Amino acid sequence: MAGNITLTIIKPDAFGAGKAGKVLAHLEQQGFTVRAARVMHLTQAQAGEFYGVHRERPFYGSLVSFMTSGPCMPMILEKADAVASLRTAIGATDPAQADEGTVRKLFAESKERNAIHASDSDENAERESRFFFSESDVLAAK
Ligand code: ATP
Ligand code: MG
Repeated sequence: MAGNITLTIIKPDAFGAGKAGKVLAHLEQQGFTVRAARVMHLTQAQAGEFYGVHRERPFYGSLVSFMTSGPCMPMILEKADAVASLRTAIGATDPAQADEGTVRKLFAESKERNAIHASDSDENAERESRFFFSESDVLAAK
């Protein structure tokens, strides 16, 4: 059965442009509930580890530099079938290809500066939640 929590990050482009409130209002409107949240400025090591799966990709260095360019806002969100539901709500990686009404269509600047992250599986939602939040925060969110 699909889990009910997922991990999102309002990325430095959207956070720095003062769009965090609008992005969050949009997600709440779609039925997501915030179960944990923080604001933090990622270090190179943290951003590099978080996106470690992309280490060999040509955009990795630029991605790490973008994700460390300013504060971001990680959150644990709850909704039925949270992972799939949030992936649908954020839209395609490239805002030019994102459906109308998705977060990336509404708020993203480019394929790299694309406003928001969302976990892509229940396993990664759990792992990424533990990356940003304490054991007790994660247990309380579930
Ligand atoms: P995320 O993992 O952040 O939710 P995603 O799953 O839609 O995004 P991934 O393929 O996992 O996309 O890529 C991770 C992030 O790396 C993207 O969100 C984007 O910021 C950046 N990225 C991906 N592909 C490119 C690219 N071709 N050029 C520049 N940046 C890219
Ligand atoms: Mg991804």
